[in-house]
Amino acid sequence: MNMTRKPRYCLQCDDGTVLELKVKDVTVTVDGVSRVVPDVAGWHCPKCSEIEFVDADSAERISIALRSAREEAGAGNGEAIRAMRKKIGLKQTEAGQLFGGGVNAFSLYERGKARPGKSTVILLELLTRHPELVAEVRGRF
Ligand SMILES: [Zn+2]
Repeated sequence: MNMTRKPRYCLQCDDGTVLELKVKDVTVTVDGVSRVVPDVAGWHCPKCSEIEFVDADSAERISIALRSAREEAGAGNGEAIRAMRKKIGLKQTEAGQLFGGGVNAFSLYERGKARPGKSTVILLELLTRHPELVAEVRGRF
């Protein structure tokens, strides 16, 4: 890389902040769900999260990490949890007993105060698609 080229300015900050050409680990976060992407090459803004990529690989890895974080955040967000619980006809307290986590667990998930575990989200999604299995799961308690 040619280090003597003219400085590049952050278009996001738009206040004359100079971008730094380097390789560094970048953390992407979507609604509290984070992914660390190691060794991202590019022009990094020291003030905001702006990156001007210099290779396709770094850009691709950031985009994969963002997609993955977005999926996890979407699946575990309070509104999605509430919608699935209602669709399978469970009260919050019943859901907490059935899925584990205690009677207050779903109240916390749905208000965004806590995040359900991955297995809870998967089971909720499964039951939403196969509501005929809810009775079977209920029968275990
Ligand atoms: Zn910036």
